[in-house]
Amino acid sequence: MSTFSQFNFGGKKALIRVDFNVPLNEAFEVTDDNRMRAALPTIQKILSDGGSVILMSHLGRPKDGPTNKYSLSHITSHLRTLLGNNVAVFFANDCIGETAKTAADELQPGQVLLLENLRFYKEEEKGDPVFAEKLSRLGDIYVNDAFGTAHRAHASTAIIADFFDADKKMFGLLMEGEVASAEKVLLKSEKPFTAIIGGAKVSDKILIIENLLERATDIIIGGGMAYTFWKAQGKQIGSSLCEEDRLELASEILNKAKDKGVSIHLPIDSTIADKFAADAQTTNCESYGIPSGWMGLDIGVKARADFKEVIIKSKTILWNGPMGVFEMEKFQQGTKAIAEAVAEATQLGAFSLVGGGDSVAAVNQFGYNDKVSYVSTGGGAMLEFFEGKELPGIAAITK
Ligand code: AMP
Repeated sequence: MSTFSQFNFGGKKALIRVDFNVPLNEAFEVTDDNRMRAALPTIQKILSDGGSVILMSHLGRPKDGPTNKYSLSHITSHLRTLLGNNVAVFFANDCIGETAKTAADELQPGQVLLLENLRFYKEEEKGDPVFAEKLSRLGDIYVNDAFGTAHRAHASTAIIADFFDADKKMFGLLMEGEVASAEKVLLKSEKPFTAIIGGAKVSDKILIIENLLERATDIIIGGGMAYTFWKAQGKQIGSSLCEEDRLELASEILNKAKDKGVSIHLPIDSTIADKFAADAQTTNCESYGIPSGWMGLDIGVKARADFKEVIIKSKTILWNGPMGVFEMEKFQQGTKAIAEAVAEATQLGAFSLVGGGDSVAAVNQFGYNDKVSYVSTGGGAMLEFFEGKELPGIAAITK
């Protein structure tokens, strides 16, 4: 495996798997270009070495082959804007075959070619080796910079690597940063290591909690999932979110944590509401005694202070999932307070990683994205990494 930064791409054609799966509006304009921006350092390093860049990505979930709605041609002009006037950006309306091959062959140093949506071929998601080999013919070097799809064994994210020698495949800068941050937290964490897990359901986060029980010193549980843990201890949670079929599992997790000496912190109080709505009536009460007809939609005032105390003493912090229904203003305070505490701990020297869709959305929305150590671009991939699974996109390069 080569290191991207040390590699000289002069005269080479780099085939980069990027994650340009960006949202488009009805006029096919890019409405959030974070994923495109995240790949720019990798592209720019190759161009400035005197190499050329061939970009491949998926966009959306096309079901029946080529569909205009999912064409990557829509993002070409935005890519031109991001790369600046002096970089020529071409588009090939196929990702394999003569069209793609000719366009790749004609590409000159300093130029960029964007291929059409990989998922126009069902072979992509099937991880078809014949399709992967066709893609591999387009470039001299394979660079994987798509952390968001690293948990998939697709043709362009994993299988393609088999067709490149060890010194001709590598992570791009984004992927390198993601992997280094995730490993720093999961494998090389400085203690105390606090994991903050929130969101709606226990069932989505079981594997991650179980894996963290082996590694963290403290696990903070907030969001809707906290109520299943209270109920598992026989407490009244009103009509808060509860997964009845996970009560036993929640008890087991609490017992396992005790055996392993991991402190589990549940929100002692909650902001409760009389309905799941932005205009609900609200008040603060103990999470273990919520009156019937009321539901906990955010961690309470005391819980915020308790959690902060744990967070600011930490040296390593992982945060996945919001503390409440942060989409509604009345239930944002808990998530905001945690973002602030994580930022404060980071300033005190902790390494903090925020990963997973909604917590990333929350830190961005509240303006804390540059006050934490790392914000991951990969939701599902980050979750699976923290569940302890081997990610095919990583293994394809490192093994
Ligand atoms: P997840 O995708 O599992 O991380 O869950 C994120 C969702 O959980 C967000 O849409 C939140 O609104 C929701 N959520 C957080 N806290 C609660 C709660 N106490 N009750 C219901 N939903 C919640």
